[in-house]
Amino acid sequence: MAKNPETMPLVTLESVTKRYAAITALDGVDLNIHAGEAVCLAGENGSGKSTLIKVLVGVEQPSAGRVLFDGVPQTRLTPTTATSAGVQVIFQDFSLFPNLSVAENISMTAERATGTLMVRRARARARAAEVLARVGVDLDLDARVERLPVAHKQLVAICRALAADARLIIMDEPTTALTEREVARLLDLIRRLKADGVAVLFVSHKLAEVLEVCETVVVLRNGAKVAEGPAADFDSASLTRAMTGRDVASGPPTPLDAAAPPLLRVDGLCRAGAFEDVSLSLRAGEVLGVAGLLGSGRTTLAKALFGLARPDRGQVTLNGAAIPLGDPIAAAAAGIGYVPEDRLTEGLFLEQSIAHNIAVGRFDAHSHSGVLNLKNLWEEATVWLKRLSVKAPDPTAPVRSLSGGNQQRVVLARWMARKPRVLILNGPSVGVDVGSKAEIHGIMADLAAKGLGVIVISDDLPELLATCHRILVMKDGIITEEVSGGAGVTESELSHRLAS
Ligand code: ADP
Ligand code: MG
Repeated sequence: MAKNPETMPLVTLESVTKRYAAITALDGVDLNIHAGEAVCLAGENGSGKSTLIKVLVGVEQPSAGRVLFDGVPQTRLTPTTATSAGVQVIFQDFSLFPNLSVAENISMTAERATGTLMVRRARARARAAEVLARVGVDLDLDARVERLPVAHKQLVAICRALAADARLIIMDEPTTALTEREVARLLDLIRRLKADGVAVLFVSHKLAEVLEVCETVVVLRNGAKVAEGPAADFDSASLTRAMTGRDVASGPPTPLDAAAPPLLRVDGLCRAGAFEDVSLSLRAGEVLGVAGLLGSGRTTLAKALFGLARPDRGQVTLNGAAIPLGDPIAAAAAGIGYVPEDRLTEGLFLEQSIAHNIAVGRFDAHSHSGVLNLKNLWEEATVWLKRLSVKAPDPTAPVRSLSGGNQQRVVLARWMARKPRVLILNGPSVGVDVGSKAEIHGIMADLAAKGLGVIVISDDLPELLATCHRILVMKDGIITEEVSGGAGVTESELSHRLAS
């Protein structure tokens, strides 16, 4: 059998199916990855991405179909055979040894256990230095890994894979914990890997980064490959459509009525160590974004507006009436709602029912002489579940049983039931799949159209650009400028302004 070495894929999946009892996690998937190629694997939560990776590295055996390395079928693929064929995964926890040095971690899998400790250390250092030089990464070889920031730990994990002669590096959502600048650095490194002949399988939903480094996009839905093609042929809308199977494009926000009355005013708000002299105003029907990197003070500001963090100075007024600072109950009573970034620890009672979660803080309205009217509570919950199209079996099910997108809607439903005038959303679509994300954006637009003022805090720039009338840029605790949303500024312009 003649095989052209030029076109022989590094790895091939041939109609790979993986079943778990009644669930088909992968459904007849074909895939080729060539040396020096970056392939993006996209798909909603539960579409089969992690399963595909597990099959590829021998952690799971396919129920049908086969895996080939360099054209050779792998009959009993194990993690060891995958590694020796040069297929390496960077796991999300990086699986590093925290109390060892950078050099030791990088040369760990490649190093032989021969010679004295000193000889081994010297060899480890030399080998690690070689890999770092090869990909142009500058790290202190003697630093203990536990002291490194996340982005540097990730670099160590990538370099360790290279030291072990990786030919294909698989990265499962590698950019989720990174700032914009760190993402740019990672994408640079991926470009260098490709130039060096290393292939990359990159799991991501973020179109901008995918387009920057990937040649090919492969989309999974319900375990099946539903789209495949050159990255340049995809745009946000078509990628989202392929992932969700429906049109979920959200347009720019509806223009603000010029006569819309001012609603919320913030004057000279300060909190030492977090933010300084923040002033802003929000009109009824307006969606105002606050863009900032991790550590810019954006979350403390959001909390301060809702009384969860006490400002040192300044004033917050709603419809002209001052709201006591540092008092969330007063803020809520005045009509401010707050949806936290971390709904799992701050926003929801996971073991409690959906209805209970929606009705929290509304028991006063549902009780008569101290007796809770469960029927009313259930009815109100059902109305909101329906209006926010939460896909839930019934309101008595525990919130824990819902997907991330539906949990977020439950938090929104809780606030809606209180009829707020201003809603502060911190990371409204963190951890939800793209379909739910677009629907949450739609809900935000509806709320604004009904006259609510909405403040969105997010590091997801496309999200801010798609949903906000105006965006405030926050850097080191200071609002440095204001840009208009919609088509006012591009994502990369905004990202430069955040980082510069
Ligand atoms: P993704 O990584 O795209 O979010 P996964 O590959 O993790 O998706 O999951 C695909 C489907 O397979 C999901 O429905 C998931 O619940 C199911 N699944 C994954 N692993 C297992 C398992 N070990 N047992 C049963 N079902 C599983
Ligand atoms: Mg996964």
